[in-house]
Formats: sequence, structure tokens, C-alpha cells
Amino acid sequence: MRASRFFISTLKDAPSDAEIVSHQLMMRAGMIKRLGSGIYTYMPMGLRVIRKVEAIIRDEMNKSSAIELLMPLVQPAELWQETGRWTKMGDELMRVKDRHGREYAIQPTSEEVITDVVRSEIKSYRQLPLNFYHIQTKFRDERRPRFGLMRGREFTMKDAYSFDRDLAGMQASYKIMFDAYTRIFTRFGLKFRAVAADNGAIGGSGSHEFHVIAHTGEDALVYCPTSDYAANMEAAEALQTGERAAPAQELVKTPTPGTVKCETVAALLGLELSQTVKTIALTVETEKDGKVSKAYFMLLLRGDHELNEIKVGKVPGLANHRFTTEAELLEVYGSIPGFLGPIGTLQPVTVVADRTVANMSDFVCGANAADFHYTGANWGRDLPEPHIVADLRNVVAGDASPDGQGVLAIERGIEVGHVFQLGTAYSESMKATFLDENGKPAPLQMGCYGIGVTRILGAAIEQNFDDKGIIWPAAIAPFEVVLCPMGMDRSELVKEETEKLYAALQAAGVDVILDDRGQRPGAMFADWELIGVPHRVVIGERGLKEGKLEYQGRRDTEATGVAPADIVAFIQ
Ligand code: ATP
Ligand code: MG
Ligand code: MG
Ligand code: MG
Repeated sequence: MRASRFFISTLKDAPSDAEIVSHQLMMRAGMIKRLGSGIYTYMPMGLRVIRKVEAIIRDEMNKSSAIELLMPLVQPAELWQETGRWTKMGDELMRVKDRHGREYAIQPTSEEVITDVVRSEIKSYRQLPLNFYHIQTKFRDERRPRFGLMRGREFTMKDAYSFDRDLAGMQASYKIMFDAYTRIFTRFGLKFRAVAADNGAIGGSGSHEFHVIAHTGEDALVYCPTSDYAANMEAAEALQTGERAAPAQELVKTPTPGTVKCETVAALLGLELSQTVKTIALTVETEKDGKVSKAYFMLLLRGDHELNEIKVGKVPGLANHRFTTEAELLEVYGSIPGFLGPIGTLQPVTVVADRTVANMSDFVCGANAADFHYTGANWGRDLPEPHIVADLRNVVAGDASPDGQGVLAIERGIEVGHVFQLGTAYSESMKATFLDENGKPAPLQMGCYGIGVTRILGAAIEQNFDDKGIIWPAAIAPFEVVLCPMGMDRSELVKEETEKLYAALQAAGVDVILDDRGQRPGAMFADWELIGVPHRVVIGERGLKEGKLEYQGRRDTEATGVAPADIVAFIQ
């Protein structure tokens, strides 16, 4: 590829709505362009990365005997009504009507359609096992689309669906996909972790999420460094139920002064101390049985208006809820019987902007749980460490690992893949059966397996960037190598050597771009550092006369002189 014939559009500054690094850098590098909330055009530079991600996924899926097909984006409502998801999915499901008034879902996933395909195609156990997949646009009307491709409304997913004759077969298919995912994320060149997950609304018996490790990740991952135990926070908390409810009561009875270090809180929340965090304290006044009591809430915000975590009290189902506005907080807490009581008034008491967690002291905080209030609490003074620990998380670093093999650690991750053992939930509601060896109809055993193709771009950047821009792992970089000739139009020697090198790299199968735009070196280098191409070769007349090209890896601090004849081997 020649840069003059490609489309490159870089920006010095990111738009103000881009809150996290990956979103900012993708906008600045001209990889995506916003069309509407959570809806983006994949620009040529970004699409190259998407295609590489897809190619690796496709290769590993095919090697795992999964078969590619392509299911429609627009799916009749009737199918979704069969499984009950037409109503269960709520507002996240995008519904449209055609000119006859018939209703359709725009697919957020495709369990219904694939089950419909299979129920009419599969007659006998002899046709099993089967695994179908597609890489297709998804639409989810996310309540808060944000972070660019990370949580879009329209995005690309690879979703696969396995069909087996029995439980053991389904578990074997699941294992094959689990292993394929491990190879896929390894090939991407990303640091990742597979964790046990709750099955949630889908039901079924087993599930794992694959997370790219990044301290900006939305999810807390619990793992044991000395064993194989790893789970997402929800699954880890599910094992802990009840155990940590006690400290809240204790606190009310014995408000013993104590100290909580900011470091402890930061570690619990998986934040780096240097990270800028905005903090809001809220007081909630509660009236119950004629008695007014106050409870304090501590909210941590990251970025401009992103409320990151609220971990207060023992409110069923709200342990991980995230709120955007105070009104929303009131709406949710106010709706819990026995929590706020009949009257709940919410007053913002303090807003501390742009302070690091490390600087927070003397800060009003506390927690509330049904019938148990912490009042007058202060991070710098009052709360004994175990209590705030109990407030923030049910599972904390240092807890014993459930497998008894050590203690738990916590890190943050971005969910990029999810594998599920579905069992017969869909096949039973949709009557997808096959005839077993005895000629008897039996429901198909299903599994489903998703990878967030477009989210991977954001996740890869959150893990790999510096102050100059993106640092793509070579396997998914838009280009592997950029050639930067110095004065190609002035120097015949430079021109000749550059063309020779360009041809040699292409012949060697290297994905190379030749920057022939005639820009000044500073601007040219800044572009490619921002875009994040892993290898750069500078071709200059002076160097050539000494028999050298200047090679610099994206993470290198200095260039290395390499002979033109050695450069192909050097890069590979
Ligand atoms: P999340 O917890 O982030 O909302 P999810 O659990 O709802 O994700 P799944 O239904 O498990 O998502 O879908 C499979 C994969 O699709 C996820 O692991 C994620 O990588 C990707 N994905 C889900 N929602 C989005 C989105 N709004 N934008 C981009 N990718 C997404
Ligand atoms: Mg979701
Ligand atoms: Mg999830
Ligand atoms: Mg998921």
C-alpha cells in the first residue's frame, strides 16, 4: 500500500466526548468516525484492524470444525416470542416494523435464528455434533453507549452455536471453543484471562468470560496467583453470599474509630493511585417510622462525567450497579422497599474534582444497607478497615481462594469473549429435537460463544499505548511496517532503494505501507506513532551511503542501523 493512495486522516486533539484512551486514540488516528450515539463508521485504517481480527477468529473457528454461515440482521418477532426474549430483553432489543406493521428484532445475538435453522435441518443424532458461526453486525440499544467501539450500540460480534446429542457432547464442544478462544487471544498478542462467570439471564450450567487485562476495564476479576482459580466479581461474590453482611450490623452497634488507607480503597477498586479520580459525596436522608437518619454515599468517578463504581451497602442486586446522575441514583435506591423508606431526599454535599485517590482524606463517606446506617463516617478517621472493605466488595484481595490453594488477588479486565453452556433452554422452548439412537426425539444440547470483534480494538489499545499513540500488537496492526523515505522526490538513490525495499517486503508477505506523501519527517513520524504501526524503517541518503537504513520498533527509544539486505529478516 502507498500512503498517497490510501486514506489517512489524523487529528492533533481528540473530541471532548472521548473519555478513555482507546476512544481518544482511535478518533485521533482516524480509525473510526462517529455517526450517532454508539454508532460509528469504521474508517479504512480501523477496518484493516477489524479485518485482521476477523481473519484470526475465522481461522481458529474453522480449525475447530465450526462452520460459517450468515444469519440475517433483521429477524421476525415471532421467533423471539417463542423463547420469551422478545419481552425479556427489554429496551436493549431494537425493534422495527415493516410496512405491513409486522414486527422484527435487529439481532443482538442469534440463538433463535440458529435454533430455527437447526430444528428444521437436523433429524438424527448421526448429524451431530454441529457448530455454526457467523461474524455479523449486532445492535443493542445500550442504556449508556460509550467509550467508542468498547460499548457501541452497533458493533460486530462473532457468535457461534454448538449442537450436541447429550450433556457430555455439549461439554466437549464447549471445551473445543474454550481452547479455540485461548488460541485466538494468544494470537492477537494480548494479555488476557479466562474467568468463570455467572450464567445470568441466559440460564444453563457453565460459562466463562475472556477478559483483556487493563486497569481501565469495567469488570473486576478475582483470581488466585498460586492456582487456576479465576472468576469475575459476580461469580466470586456468589460463592461468598452472607459472609460479609455482618460487618454492617457490627458497625452500627460498635462505631469504633479506625483508619482506612486510600491505598486500600484504590486497590479494592482496582485503580492506580496516580489515576485521576473525581469524587462525589452524597447524603441520603432517610425517614423510617418517623425517624430521620442520614447515610452517606461515596461515588468515584473517572474521566469527565463517567461514574465508575458505587459500592455501598448490601442492597440486593445493586452490588455492581453504575449510576450516571444523582437523579438516577435516587430513582433506583428510592424504589427499593425498606431501603430509603417512604421519603428519600438526596443532596449532593461535596464535589471534589480532579483529585487523585491518594490525595483523598478527611472525606465524608459511609454506607447504607436496609436498616443499617453508617453515619458520620470518614475515610480518614472513622471506619475500621474491615468494614469499608466489606462495603466496597464482598470479595477482596487477600481472601482465601475457594479452592484452598492460596489467597485471592483482584485485577481489572475488559470482557472480549464469552462462552456459555446453554443446555436445552432454547431447544426446549423452540422444540428443536433430534431422533436419538433409539429413535426417540430428544432436545438438542446447545452452547453459545461470542467474541466482541470491534471491542477488541478498544481493549487492545487500553493495554498498549504510550503518550505518542497506539502500539498495535503486530498480528492485528493496520500495517506491520511503514517505510519512511527522506526526500524521495529529491534523491534518486532514496527513491530507488525505497522502491526496492517496498517490493522485497511485499514479496516476503509483509503488510507494508510506503509513506510517499512527501511530508516533513516530524509530521510523518508523529502520524505513524499515533496510528501505532509496530515497525518503522527510515530510508535516507546519508544512511544509504553508509550502507544503512534506520529501523525503529514502536516501543524502541532509539533507531538501529540495519543493512538494506538484512531488513526483511530483521522485521520478521
Ligand atoms: P457487557 O457485559 O460488556 O455488556 P455482554 O455480557 O452483554 O457484554 P455478551 O452477550 O456476552 O455481552 O456478548 C458477547 C461479546 O460481545 C462480549 O463478550 C463483548 O465482547 C461483546 N459486546 C457485548 N456488548 C457490546 C457492545 N455494546 N459493544 C461492543 N461489544 C460488545
Ligand atoms: Mg451487555
Ligand atoms: Mg457481561
Ligand atoms: Mg457476556
